[in-house]
Amino acid sequence: MDAKRLSRLHDLGITPWVLRHASAAQPARPRPVGESHSAPLAVALTVQPTLAADARASAVAAMDWAALRAAVRDCTACGLRAGCTQTVFGVGDEHARWLIIGEAPGADEDRQGEPFVGRAGQLLNSMIVAIGLKREQVYIANVLKCRPPNNRDPKPEEAELCRPFLERQIALIAPKIILAVGRIAAQNLLHTDTTIGRLRGTVHRLGGVPLVVTYHPAYLLRSPGEKRKAWSDLKLAVRTVQESGQ
Ligand code: SF4
Repeated sequence: MDAKRLSRLHDLGITPWVLRHASAAQPARPRPVGESHSAPLAVALTVQPTLAADARASAVAAMDWAALRAAVRDCTACGLRAGCTQTVFGVGDEHARWLIIGEAPGADEDRQGEPFVGRAGQLLNSMIVAIGLKREQVYIANVLKCRPPNNRDPKPEEAELCRPFLERQIALIAPKIILAVGRIAAQNLLHTDTTIGRLRGTVHRLGGVPLVVTYHPAYLLRSPGEKRKAWSDLKLAVRTVQESGQ
């Protein structure tokens, strides 16, 4: 274990822990020669709010990365776009084994156009390093692409309107594990109102992909005593990837 990773574990307030199998912490798989995601569309599709929900979801489900980015950039399907600085699409390796999903952009994310920046982002980075990866080796996205005013919780209708974008990201990435960070993300992704305390510790499924729930780094900053539980969640996610044999 290198010094940087030891330091990150220290940030998390945890005792260093060594992976039993190196495969659990493999970097994102390289793209085989000749393999590519669907070819960019010549004309990026724009998703109009007037389209029926099914037609809109079908259009999004056929998009490649370029079209999806353009659709998110131009989306005004819910009222949030009018009040945010920019959409926050997501960041990371488009072939990542680990997909980390949070709730929605906050003030820093809205300003920078990237999810999980600021102090919470730094702690998330430490969590990623603690499992033997780098931020660039995972993909990070949110349930919502636009910042809710005053960081209020997403409304159910906003989350549903934005969901096709995230579902398409999941399909394009094809991750081996999804880590849902925070109550809002977990409840939206799993369509439940079960408490985060009860959602933790179990491997759920989202579209066939294993999903593990943990606390949001912003909560861990306020409640450092819960970091050990978060570490336990990360170990569950690592074990899940190991046991999938991939
Ligand atoms: S939050 Fe999602 S659905 Fe609403 S305007 Fe932004 S991109 Fe569109």
